[in-house]
Formats: sequence, C-alpha cells, structure tokens
Amino acid sequence: MKIDVVTVFPEYLSPLDLSLIGRARQRGLIDLDVHDLRRWTHDVHHSVDGAPAGGGAGMVMKPQPWGECLDELVFQRQGPGEEKPRLLVTSPAGRPFTQAMAHELAAEPWLMFACGRYEGIDQRVVDHASQAMEVTEVSIGDYVLFGGEVAVLAIVEAVARLVPGVLGNAASLDDESHNAGLLEAPAYTRPAEWRGLEIPPVLLSGDHGKVDRWRREQALLRTAAARPDLLARLEAGSLDERDRLL
Ligand code: SAM
Repeated sequence: MKIDVVTVFPEYLSPLDLSLIGRARQRGLIDLDVHDLRRWTHDVHHSVDGAPAGGGAGMVMKPQPWGECLDELVFQRQGPGEEKPRLLVTSPAGRPFTQAMAHELAAEPWLMFACGRYEGIDQRVVDHASQAMEVTEVSIGDYVLFGGEVAVLAIVEAVARLVPGVLGNAASLDDESHNAGLLEAPAYTRPAEWRGLEIPPVLLSGDHGKVDRWRREQALLRTAAARPDLLARLEAGSLDERDRLL
C-alpha cells in the first residue's frame, strides 16, 4: 500500500518510523512518504494561510499550495492508466472514522492524507480534487484538535494493522473490539493471582469451549455496560439462543 501525508509539520509524523508500522515500511508492505506543504509555496515566508473570507477569527489554509501539491504528487507522478489515490482530508466536520472505514481504506492501493491546521483548508481544495479522485473528509471524533497530524497517526495505525502481513498473527484481528460490533472481553495473563485478584478460573481450565462461551458473555456484558449504542445496532441474527438468556 502506498501512503502519502501532506502536512506543515512533517516531524509530527515521525512515530510512523517506529514499532510495527516502521517495520512494515522496512519490509516494503507500506510505502509511506511525508511531504512538507511549504515546498509548494513561493513567498519568502512560505506562508500557507490567509484571513478568512467573510471575516472572523483565525486563519484558513490557502488553496494554492494544496493545488500545486496535488498536481505534483498525483497528476505529474501518475503513469498512463494508473490509479489515483483516495484523498482523505482530516476535519472535525468529516465522516466519523470507524473500524469499518479502516477496513475500507485498507483495501485501497493508495491513500493520500491532507492535514489541516488553523481554521482548516479552503473548501475549494476538496471541491476541486473531488472532480478528479475520490475525496473523503474524515473525523477521528467529536472534538477539535489543533491539526490533522494526530488524526492521521490514528487512522494510519488502524489501517496499517489490517494490511496483510503487518500483524505477526492475523488471528489477533478476529475477536477484537469493533470487529463484529461488540467490545472484546477483558484480557489477563499470569500470575494467576496478583495483589489479591485472581484470573477468572475458567480461563485456566483448559476447556476451550467454556473459555469461548465466557469470552462471548463478557463481550456482551461489557458492550451493554460501556456502549449500549453498539448493542442496539447489532443485527438480530448475530445473537444466538444462549446470548438471549444473558
Ligand atoms: N474550524 C474547524 C471546524 O470547526 O470544523 C476546525 C479546525 S481545527 C482547529 C484544524 C485542523 O485540525 C482541521 O482542519 C483538521 O485537519 C484537524 N482536526 C481537528 N479536529 C479533528 C478531528 N476531530 N478529526 C480530524 N481532524 C481534525
């Protein structure tokens, strides 16, 4: 998978050199480039922002550097018949990022992220790019950050772990939270007793059937307690008879 990130703070993305994503990059599973938007400015101050049209507080990212950046990274780089990237513009006003969207993005061959700053990016950047490629404004939650960099770190991490080969054991993805609409059951490791607290005995019983049933029940109870909204959205067919007795 190819990933480009455009930002005015390239250093903010340095954690993408670390851990499993860093290793996936070294192994060639993810080809990730971070670009400094100021490369596409032409004034001595490398300015990327201007006063908001119509007045008001703060500054807005100018369309020109973004336009030239996309021209170079997408259109000039593209060979005949090649795919265009899916452009993800970070915004608190965007489509909420979820595990389902992470799966959707993990199936794309090329993702390009635009990190906003200040009051955001001039809307014409999205409108113009949408004429040539798929553009999604994406939010990581109902709160406002200073910029899109932290959002990109979160999205890239969630997407990268779904790219085949990135996770050592792909089975880890099966039962985890948000995979089948439920939160995952709590996890434990030895020692069997720690500070007076014990691992639930069923987990040490060696009976895989009972362990699976216990995890299923815990997942349902935990979801009901912490995220009843998820439980309410479960499709009827995803509960079995024993779940209904809980
Ligand atoms: N004025 C904008 C609004 O109210 O919708 C907020 C701009 S915010 C201060 C600056 C930039 O941070 C945004 O353009 C976006 O790139 C990023 N950002 C802030 N919160 C975000 C969120 N929840 N999800 C994704 N990106 C976010």
